[in-house]
Amino acid sequence: MSSLDKPNTPQSDQVVEPNGVIGILGGGQLGRMLAIAAAPLGLKTHILEPDDHCPAADVAAKHMIASYTDESALAEFAKSVDIITFEFENVPADTLNMLAALGARVAPEARALSVAQDRLHEKDFCASIGVRTAPYHAVDNLAALHQGLKEVGTPAILKTRRLGYDGKGQTHIAAHNNDLTETWEKAQIHAWEAVGARPSILEGFIPFEREISIIGARNAKGDIALYDIVENAHSNGILITSCVPAAISKETSDSAKFIMTRMLMELDYIGVMAVEFFVLRNGELLVNEIAPRVHNSGHWTINACAVSQFEQHLRAIAGWPLGDPERHSDAVMKNLIGPEALTWRDLSRQSNTCLHLYGKREAREGRKMGHLTILNSHRNES
Ligand code: AMP
Repeated sequence: MSSLDKPNTPQSDQVVEPNGVIGILGGGQLGRMLAIAAAPLGLKTHILEPDDHCPAADVAAKHMIASYTDESALAEFAKSVDIITFEFENVPADTLNMLAALGARVAPEARALSVAQDRLHEKDFCASIGVRTAPYHAVDNLAALHQGLKEVGTPAILKTRRLGYDGKGQTHIAAHNNDLTETWEKAQIHAWEAVGARPSILEGFIPFEREISIIGARNAKGDIALYDIVENAHSNGILITSCVPAAISKETSDSAKFIMTRMLMELDYIGVMAVEFFVLRNGELLVNEIAPRVHNSGHWTINACAVSQFEQHLRAIAGWPLGDPERHSDAVMKNLIGPEALTWRDLSRQSNTCLHLYGKREAREGRKMGHLTILNSHRNES
């Protein structure tokens, strides 16, 4: 079936014109930045999010406080908007199905979401299109973990299939010769309990040289726009910095672009999507994660490109021509985590620096409170 015969995804001739309303499921910082990007295009945003103090509520035209499974709220929400998108991938797939059943147009569509929501489906999808990932094994119980460790080897990482983010829901399993000893058995029980004894996936630990990601967009006409590849640094599973350009060869960059294009086409995707990769020493790429949404590693595009990932997403789902993704400045994006955001006064004095704060009230440990984008930062290196 081509995208043209699908009932509830945007068709190439359906355009949300200026003054139209974009519905966003989720009201976090990504929703906030989408709503901010909508304003210059003359588009309005309505958000649906259960938390009444969410970051997007400050800037969206309307905030419906409701759960994602409240059918009557979803029906009312669907009536108040021209198209619906989501800003985080843990929106239940059933919510999208309910909205589709109500006749609402939703983008990206449920398939991309269900692939990305489940680490096993994500890896199987990559394998089905010939894209490499870390070796993996589905783990539904201790026996499967034991078998998986034999196949995948150690060190390894056990991750819950669903609802993990920022390094949550995962545990590292140290190198071991796999002899069946009491300590090794205990280590496996410990790992299984650490992920809450939930359906999981065991991944071989990849001694990568660097981590990169790419942000791409596709509209219903099939036009594709790709941003430059960024290099990411994580700590405890949380993204700390994204640097563009990434220190990779043209071949590696081209293969990341090829894989992204392949995935956008394969999923008949409409909107912005991010793909994270591990880069091996020989330059080969393994896909780590697919995010069917705007992404933290694309925040630099707000200040270093004419059209940001947020505007691009709106253009793609609203049936507008895609914008120019070209980068006009080098950039380093730094997340402000927890109390780091309390230094906003000093940060706001730095030159070449764009400060973004998300309006969250409590600077809790590990919470993304804002980010900085430092432009042309190579010029400042001494
Ligand atoms: P994830 O939530 O799966 O993206 O994992 C968060 C971070 O943990 C990644 O960005 C990597 O830095 C690290 N990580 C995850 N999976 C692996 C792996 N299989 N091998 C090595 N490092 C990993």
